[in-house]
Amino acid sequence: MPTRSDTPPQSGSGQQPLPKTADVVVIGGGIVGVTAALYLARHGVSVVLVEKGYIGAEQSSRNWGWIRKQGRDPAELPLMIESAREWNQIAAPVAREIRLGTVGTTYVSLTEAEFAERCDWVEQAKPFQLDTKILGPRETAALLGRDDQKFTGAIHTPSDMTAEPALAVPALGRLAREAGATLIEGCAARGVERSAGRVSHVVTERGAIACQSVILGGGAWSRTFLENIGIFIPQLAIRSTALRTTPGPQIHPGGLGAPPASVRRRSDGGYTIGRTNASRFDLVPAAFRHFAAYLPVLKSRWNTIQLRAGREFFGDLGHGRWQLDQITPFERTRVLDPAPNRALARDMLETAKRLHPGLGNIQIAGVWAGMIDVTPDELPIIDEIPGWAGLWAATGMSGHGFGIGPGVGRVVGELATGRRPIVDISPFALSRFSP
Ligand SMILES: Cc1cc2nc3c(=O)[nH]c(=O)nc-3n(C[C@H](O)[C@H](O)[C@H](O)COP(=O)(O)OP(=O)(O)OC[C@H]3O[C@@H](n4cnc5c(N)ncnc54)[C@H](O)[C@@H]3O)c2cc1C
Repeated sequence: MPTRSDTPPQSGSGQQPLPKTADVVVIGGGIVGVTAALYLARHGVSVVLVEKGYIGAEQSSRNWGWIRKQGRDPAELPLMIESAREWNQIAAPVAREIRLGTVGTTYVSLTEAEFAERCDWVEQAKPFQLDTKILGPRETAALLGRDDQKFTGAIHTPSDMTAEPALAVPALGRLAREAGATLIEGCAARGVERSAGRVSHVVTERGAIACQSVILGGGAWSRTFLENIGIFIPQLAIRSTALRTTPGPQIHPGGLGAPPASVRRRSDGGYTIGRTNASRFDLVPAAFRHFAAYLPVLKSRWNTIQLRAGREFFGDLGHGRWQLDQITPFERTRVLDPAPNRALARDMLETAKRLHPGLGNIQIAGVWAGMIDVTPDELPIIDEIPGWAGLWAATGMSGHGFGIGPGVGRVVGELATGRRPIVDISPFALSRFSP
């Protein structure tokens, strides 16, 4: 069991009758699926969301809680800017409950080379007119209330936000229900059916739902789901460990990043701590199929990624095909709850304390892990599946989907109902991976 104090509550919606029809069926109750359902319900579309476990139980409650524009690939900045607006609008009724705050992101640099890289990003992001500032060593020290000049500089975006992930997605799910969406937990989608090249049904473990469109927001499971209908997407699972601490002094109100340890002030007075790119890359069969595509990521992260043969490799999670009247991998693993790397967690805490002595004597209060769905260029896939008109994938958030999730949810909701998306989605086309 995860030792997060803030594991999301289960609503018990598994007893609810399964509707036989809907305009749109959403598969997956993470930030993407829930915000898509909320968008659709608010636009008068009949929508049913099915979640194999419970709302927000996988990545969407296990993340660090950063909602940032800072440091993003410029290709996804327009969508992230819209997503930040979405957070402020759709989450307004629950903002206090989910501790949504505009508290800023700061990335400090330990070397001149690192600082130069950060400054390059600020240059690339200029066309988007963000409020990011470049800080010298003295200004960085002043921002962090310290009197040394340990850091070569920093970049700082005051308009970035944070929220408590485990509280956020269930609260947004509640808003979706209030707006008229049906959210059913404990109900796995086994597959989809089509008629004349267009999706016609989602088959769940509790029966079929006839529909016009389907949104697949299955996170780390989307690849497995699509493989069963013969569609291969380059999306792999990376295990990432995080920890929370006991309460300590405030050194920064928002997200404070540095390569060896990143910290985020929590609403309980402690910190959520993680290490960028310190991940375990599971060698599932798909990893071999897409190995060449992943080489650039692996090369750039070689010293922080551990390779191992994943559990999936041995066939108990998503390997092989199934018929729609058979038990699927989604029913066998209701909640993907990978074991955290405790030694890494201890090292991350000690590193954070060395970087920021102002944290005092905080201790580990909980450690957990999540499986991140990563694409080779670390950008999402938002696209209609070839040969399956009306089946939209919104997946591969690549470790930064909590922030961009409401934007993705809105855009895929627009696409699934034939509306023009609020931003250009061409950078997220599946065809970019075609040879
Ligand atoms: C340790 C860690 C730290 C992170 N930090 C940040 C951060 O600070 N900021 C940020 O922006 N992002 C962060 N992320 C990434 C972010 O959490 C994810 O990108 C985001 O939550 C993905 O949302 P999702 O809805 O796509 O997937 P998920 O939250 O994984 O949800 C997918 C859901 O689909 C369900 N599902 C799958 N298949 C089926 C099926 N067949 N039938 C029914 N249900 C199904 C699953 O049970 C699951 O609940 C972090 C991730 C981790 C693990």
